[in-house]
Amino acid sequence: MGIITMKQNESKILIFGGTGYIGSHMVKASINLGHPTYVFTRPDSDKKDLLEEFRSTGAIIIEGRVDEHDKLVDAAREVDVVISALAYPQVLDQLKILEAIKIAGNIKRFLPSEFGVEEDRVSALPPFEALLDKRRRIRRAIEEAKIPYTFISSNCCGSYFINYLLNPSHPNKQEITVYGSGQAKAVFNYEQDIGVYTIKVATDPRTRNRIVIFRPPGNAVSQLELISLWEKKTGKIFKKTHVSEEEIVTLSQTLPGPQNIPVSILHSLFVKGATADFEIGGDDVEASSLYPDLKFSTVDEQLDVFLTNPPKPASAAFG
Ligand code: NDP
Repeated sequence: MGIITMKQNESKILIFGGTGYIGSHMVKASINLGHPTYVFTRPDSDKKDLLEEFRSTGAIIIEGRVDEHDKLVDAAREVDVVISALAYPQVLDQLKILEAIKIAGNIKRFLPSEFGVEEDRVSALPPFEALLDKRRRIRRAIEEAKIPYTFISSNCCGSYFINYLLNPSHPNKQEITVYGSGQAKAVFNYEQDIGVYTIKVATDPRTRNRIVIFRPPGNAVSQLELISLWEKKTGKIFKKTHVSEEEIVTLSQTLPGPQNIPVSILHSLFVKGATADFEIGGDDVEASSLYPDLKFSTVDEQLDVFLTNPPKPASAAFG
């Protein structure tokens, strides 16, 4: 009875893309934190097992498509907070979610799918810039509609990029590729922490109409520092092969779309240091100091996970 009463007082959260790489951590966190949790999923989703797991832990599954306007309005009317964790190819579909939120009229917070660099603070190579422009378009549309929002810059997904940069599950790895000099710092945050902090800030009055940046002190490390930490843990020494900035820029100009996007992202994150190279100030909020009872996993702890239970490599959709 006590638990039910507590749940009734918690904000109801609707998550789009909740079966996805990052969205699934948000769904789990939302349920664990006691929020009535709704997952919007396509009727032909191939994530049936995960949906069943969500259902068995109390989530309410809504089947539909983002162009089913009435269904979106009905879903929005059921809840207080809407989070989108849709992948990049669906970025502009979020305008349809926004339209439904406007009609529903009851949403206290909307978090669009970003979960990367702070897009109003980054100037990137053209293929990544085009992606960021679409996301900025969503930000501006939300602001214009006067829907309360939180924009999250969660920086590098830790396991995603540790897998990419170090390739730890490769059995006989001798060599590691370093992008640029390897000295620019990048912020690595563990995916589970991104899930928990996203749910916390989505319902926090202090983060209403704010950009929230996940930059825990200590989680900004360079590629060379990351490799050195990994060498200490594994007792191995890797050969470092550098890909120069010029080569990366050339690839961004010569690869066909959408393959030109990941290489442009690597340039921003690891050559330019786009997640760590600006001061957080003004109205922006840095997440790690908000909740005294919570802390982000350190980079060292994230690497430990690879020694015991290595997360599978993943690759985000770009086209
Ligand atoms: P996913 O590719 O995992 O997709 C999320 C969900 O979207 C899927 O589970 C699926 O849900 C739904 N979906 C897939 N295809 C379609 C489609 N054609 N039409 C409608 N819905 C579809 O997303 P990610 O988790 O990789 O990306 C989410 C956000 O996180 C993005 O903004 C991405 O850029 C960012 N990201 C950031 C990273 C970082 O390091 N900072 C790393 C990875 C992602 P269902 O089947 O239930 O309908």
